[in-house]
Amino acid sequence: MDETQSLRTPLMSLADLIAPAASPRETPEAPALVSLRGVDKVFANGVTALAGVELDVREGEFVSLLGPSGCGKSTILRLLSGLTSPTRGAIAWRGRRPELGFVFQEPTLTPWSTVFANVWLPLRLAGVSRAQAAPRVEEALERVGLSGFANAFPRELSGGMKMRVSIARALVTRPAVLLMDEPFAALDEITRTKLNDDLVALKCGLGATVVFVTHSVYESVYLSTRIVVMAARPGRAVAEIAVDAPLPRNEEFRLSAAYAEKCRQTSLALCAAMDLPPPGARARSGEAST
Ligand code: ADP
Repeated sequence: MDETQSLRTPLMSLADLIAPAASPRETPEAPALVSLRGVDKVFANGVTALAGVELDVREGEFVSLLGPSGCGKSTILRLLSGLTSPTRGAIAWRGRRPELGFVFQEPTLTPWSTVFANVWLPLRLAGVSRAQAAPRVEEALERVGLSGFANAFPRELSGGMKMRVSIARALVTRPAVLLMDEPFAALDEITRTKLNDDLVALKCGLGATVVFVTHSVYESVYLSTRIVVMAARPGRAVAEIAVDAPLPRNEEFRLSAAYAEKCRQTSLALCAAMDLPPPGARARSGEAST
């Protein structure tokens, strides 16, 4: 059975596959690094982006937020980063909020600055001189495989390399938590696959906690230790899927039956969250996939 086929063939009921989103009482592991409790976010225009979100992120996890557009994934990242506040409910960090790194969907590099200057930026804004910052900029560039590109300009780089610079910029402050908002969505599949591989290695090397927003079932399963599936209108967490294959992962995991099975489970959970029939049912009825 190939991977596509396995995704199309529901063998178990949805109830067998989908665990409800964790309640605060169902977290037997380490205490949460950060917890969202009963979080609502209503924007000034009246849009309820999030309603009653319960989410724990534990130290060292790679948590993906997976769901349709508009279900509030980016809003959760913005809440975690302190860029916006909840309308109701609480976000509690264990102790002081740690250093955070934020990677956006677009690399958002300044085109007139070198790679070095782009990566230095967060330290420069914190008052760190060029000379003091140099070892940390070089370390960050090395971590993303761009040693030797410090003097290049963004126009000289491919899309994947620009995203690597953007990740280096997030790493230069040595964050304990990396917040990543669909960083690879605009890249071609080959580049995306390579960056997925490198992100797994990077996460393992850093030991950082990662909260990652994606639309991609395949990407979320490959990268994550846990996937939180979200539904829209209003945005909320509706299911969790643990991916217990050990890190680091590689091509062997991507080609494994365990990966295909986890993709199938995740795909079904996403369909349920979107009120869609399971993929197999749609294929049989001749509907186009979404
Ligand atoms: P996602 O990341 O899952 O696509 P978002 O978190 O970006 O979803 O948005 C959730 C909902 O909140 C969407 O309906 C979006 O239009 C709305 N929204 C996001 N930011 C704002 C804002 N600043 N003002 C008003 N509505 C917003």
